[in-house]
Amino acid sequence: MTYDQDNIFAKILKGDIPCDKVFESEKTLAFNDISPAAPRHILVIPKGPYTDIVDFASNASQDEQADFWAAVTKIAQDEGLNEKGFRSIANTGEHGGQEVPHFHLHLLGGEPIGKMRSKD
Ligand code: AMP
Repeated sequence: MTYDQDNIFAKILKGDIPCDKVFESEKTLAFNDISPAAPRHILVIPKGPYTDIVDFASNASQDEQADFWAAVTKIAQDEGLNEKGFRSIANTGEHGGQEVPHFHLHLLGGEPIGKMRSKD
């Protein structure tokens, strides 16, 4: 899939639209989901133009990948998600239900998150 330079997260990264920022490093940004599915719902995104987790894992540099996972770890600890646990989700492509074509990891917590999958 070709990266869409005008997707909503690309616009956030360009500063064209605001976000409720939780964390930022040189190569990674995290912000609260605009439509939270749990008491805590944070999205972690690389700043580089990667469409999904496969694109990111295949094509991002080692520095970008290390920065991303360091950010996930720091956010999980600093935001208290790691105390009682949380769920991380990377929706991917059509069957994965991905709506925004810029790789993002959902971090969901703050209460028991329930079953891993629903057929709804
Ligand atoms: P996905 O279905 O995995 O692509 O998830 C996209 C997520 O982006 C959804 O949970 C949306 O609520 C969230 N979202 C869409 N627009 C924004 C925005 N402007 N700021 C924060 N989160 C957003």
